[in-house]
Amino acid sequence: MGTPQQQTPAAGIGTSEEIEQFDAIVIGAGITGLYALYRLREHGLSVRIFEEGGGVGGTWYWNRYPGCRFDSESYTYGYSFSEELLQEWDWKEYYSGQPENERYLNYVADKFDLRPHIRLNSRVVSAVFDEDDDRWLVQLEDGHRARGRFLITSVGILSAGYTPDFEGIDSFKGPWCHTSRWPKEGMDLAGKRVGVIGTGATGVQLITEIAKEVAHLTVFQRTANFCAPLRNGPIDDEAQREIKATYPEIFAKCMATAGSFMHQFDPRSAMEVSPEERLEQYERLWAEPGFKKWLSNFYDVMMPGEANEDYAEFFRNKIRERVHDPVVAEMLVPKDHMFGSKRLPCESGYYEVYNQDNVLLVDVRQAPIERITPAGLKTSDAEYELDVIIFATGFDAVTGSLNRLDIRGIGGQSLKDKFAGGPRTYMGISSAGFPNLFTINAASVGNFVRAAEPLVDWVSEAISYVRENEFTRIAATLQAEDDWVNHVNEAGAKILRSQADSWFVGANIPGKARVLLTAPDSAPVMRAKRAEVAANGYEGFLLE
Ligand code: NAP
Repeated sequence: MGTPQQQTPAAGIGTSEEIEQFDAIVIGAGITGLYALYRLREHGLSVRIFEEGGGVGGTWYWNRYPGCRFDSESYTYGYSFSEELLQEWDWKEYYSGQPENERYLNYVADKFDLRPHIRLNSRVVSAVFDEDDDRWLVQLEDGHRARGRFLITSVGILSAGYTPDFEGIDSFKGPWCHTSRWPKEGMDLAGKRVGVIGTGATGVQLITEIAKEVAHLTVFQRTANFCAPLRNGPIDDEAQREIKATYPEIFAKCMATAGSFMHQFDPRSAMEVSPEERLEQYERLWAEPGFKKWLSNFYDVMMPGEANEDYAEFFRNKIRERVHDPVVAEMLVPKDHMFGSKRLPCESGYYEVYNQDNVLLVDVRQAPIERITPAGLKTSDAEYELDVIIFATGFDAVTGSLNRLDIRGIGGQSLKDKFAGGPRTYMGISSAGFPNLFTINAASVGNFVRAAEPLVDWVSEAISYVRENEFTRIAATLQAEDDWVNHVNEAGAKILRSQADSWFVGANIPGKARVLLTAPDSAPVMRAKRAEVAANGYEGFLLE
């Protein structure tokens, strides 16, 4: 294991006068950052994580809103690198909730003795590449500084919360918050008139949960979503034993699929089987838990066309069946985007919430929000009195979390400026003119942990290659970057994920360039590509 060259006595935390030295600096102690720390230390590097939060867990530290939980099977979402960890940890539910997920990541931090290398409550404000000694100088908000040869931004793809710039928000008399900054001490909603803006995966989980306790709930919906029953439940002892005995098979299944989920598409076309057989499959999947309804269906359901629309109509009818008031039901039925073009929110009684007398659904596409008032919220046709406002308005995905850091490469070039028209990287990982920077958050897709582990392994091996061959710089060539950006734009335009106005393409943020923010390729294709690049001596990278 490497050790920092200069370390202060108290848990390695330096004062503002000194500059700590590490081989690698990792920003963010979420799923990816924790694993990067573990893996890089295994490779013999001294590593420091700087984490803005007061604890580890990233997404699972910040998103404490009621109802927050996995949408992927818990046992597919844990780390796979340690057999001991797999056997020790009992997932209690098939789709585990935030408190348990945070507890898991804390358990990992303790088990692998990661904490001494993590500095919490440490917001990075800038990272500047020092061209004279080929190292990154990282500056924290509190004045602390550190230097490292390699910089890994494991800052999450959905971590920069987006709160629309509504006029009057400061005048609101009650408490308000964005779901990703839910107060640790909780919010007292019992008996209150609560307004929720946003009905994405977050809003759907939150609304279902808080509808149980609030006096009145007003949901401000701009776009109706396709949402599917999660069908969560406890994992009993027998299932637990079965899971633990079959982890290799579970992970092998995940690694074989496009999004690293454990669900495989049916190779048949929906339109080639009889209508009866088609419906039978739809109904069977509907009764199953989780993403099966999305990812185990006829393959052409996930392609623009007739099959996609056929299944969309099946979903719409399911919504109509569950909501008593036909006018409200029609408001909840998505009609403006294709099924599967957004990540499918999973729910546990969401639509039934709208059958409650104390719940009101407001269409803010038809009558947009004009302003927040001291007493609530005003749309173009009515005013709503509220005690609490919750913004479930999503994230400035992928680039948002990078833009909050002032990252400067060769010649003082700003990464934010460079990415203004969309990420300019090679494979999401590296950007020309930013040596030794691994924008690991720009490269993951699908089931996060399954995507993050191989990605971190690849980056760790690349770093070891650089060190062993006594290079001091590695960065994508401009040519490789141009080719990759063209590939993302061309291949990305054809896939379902690019068709809707969602965070996948930056369309949820006013003024943000519309481009696919992640790779258009499947996870196996990306792993093969990275392996080939490495096997060819890091082809497409400039090693100096
Ligand atoms: P989101 O999908 O971007 O949804 C944001 C919501 O806010 C949308 O309904 C959006 O409406 C609305 N909104 C934004 N600006 C608005 C405005 N000015 N006026 C009115 N409405 C506005 O964000 P999210 O729900 O946080 O989910 C983001 C992603 O996080 C998901 O796709 C998923 O990948 C992940 N996630 C996963 C889980 C899980 O189960 N593990 C849970 C939560 C989130 P429009 O649709 O019209 O833009």
